[in-house]
Amino acid sequence: MAFSPLVDELVESLRCLPGVGQKTAQRMAFHLLERGRSGGEQLADALARAMTGVRRCETCQNFSDTPTCTLCQNPERNTGTVCVVESPSDLLAIEQAGDYRSSYFVLMGHLSPIDGVGPSDIGIDVLLRRVREEGVTELILATNPTVEGEATAHYIADRLDGTPVLITRLAHGIPVGGELGYVDGFTLTHAFRGRKPLAD
Ligand code: ZN
Repeated sequence: MAFSPLVDELVESLRCLPGVGQKTAQRMAFHLLERGRSGGEQLADALARAMTGVRRCETCQNFSDTPTCTLCQNPERNTGTVCVVESPSDLLAIEQAGDYRSSYFVLMGHLSPIDGVGPSDIGIDVLLRRVREEGVTELILATNPTVEGEATAHYIADRLDGTPVLITRLAHGIPVGGELGYVDGFTLTHAFRGRKPLAD
């Protein structure tokens, strides 16, 4: 049963969120309309501004309001070491662990031929150029220990064969099949310290 085209449109729009089906979308919409009008207006405003204002950092591909993100602009960060992660939440987990003070590259995904995601879709060419042209001495491949994450790490390492850069992979404590964003800071710090050159 439909109440109004506007309610229907709101419910349909909320379904674009991950894990939100019809029932949850309805509950959210009714909550906003019944008791959360000011929150709803704030949400609409923040969404509109983020959708137009948030771009990708030209250096690391992470979300940023400016052409280069604050992390890449920080002169205290060592740009000779680059840590490659799949998502902004992985970057946040590493930052919160607090031990790593160098720079990043955020793939925003992993290679997935089945879904049609190839190297250029996740910026691997941009990453390779940065490694070759900007004096990167160590590349830490911190993609998730899943089949896709491993394949992505090995693909990047293969493409850099012959390039004078040390390629390492996080070693200890990261559960196979897990995601970095869910690993605790202590484990992540140990995984960083125990990183090893990537073997073929
Ligand atoms: Zn950046």
